[in-house]
Amino acid sequence: MACMFSFMVGAAGDVVYTSWFVREIVQSKAIDNKTQPREKRVAFFLDRDGVINTDHGYVSRIEDFHFTEGIFPVLRGLSAKGYLLIVITNQSGIGRGYYTKQDFEKLTVWMRQRLSTEGIELTAVYSCPHSPDEGCDCRKPAPGMLVQAGREHNLDLSLSWMVGDKESDMQAAEAVGISNRVLLGEGPSISGTHTVSSINELLTLSI
Ligand SMILES: [Mg+2]
Ligand SMILES: [Zn+2]
Repeated sequence: MACMFSFMVGAAGDVVYTSWFVREIVQSKAIDNKTQPREKRVAFFLDRDGVINTDHGYVSRIEDFHFTEGIFPVLRGLSAKGYLLIVITNQSGIGRGYYTKQDFEKLTVWMRQRLSTEGIELTAVYSCPHSPDEGCDCRKPAPGMLVQAGREHNLDLSLSWMVGDKESDMQAAEAVGISNRVLLGEGPSISGTHTVSSINELLTLSI
């Protein structure tokens, strides 16, 4: 037995031992990855008013919320391509006292449920409740909401997209390195990389 023992020690020499040791570390890392996914994901960031719904100005009630024509198949298409759908919306109507945070949240719950019945799941909705004179870092064109979303959902912002109907949407995206920017509307965009006149054109871009 003594002889066999020494043979086994000899077989488990430094090189063999080292490669076994490295393999063990790699395997334990793989297990960590399984329990805690670290792979970066990509998102399609969507402004709300003027993109998902018609912007009547400070929309806060379900009866005033009208989905943009054609928005459902577009969102389904983006989702099918693997993008997380994340809404990034300025809601200064709260800070201005036109409606409450609760009004906004109630409308958001309704909007998400309505989208869900169309087979569309929003990953998250980020909103800025501040008025412009509060000087927050979340009101677009400030990029605070995008920064937060990127951190909380482990996003690769360089591969993510932003669609909005105002230059401030484009500027916020540009500030965090989102180079895929789509401005919805007429005329040239200063800081967008694409301009589309209707939401239906989104899926014609190479996204
Ligand atoms: Mg808008
Ligand atoms: Zn804010």
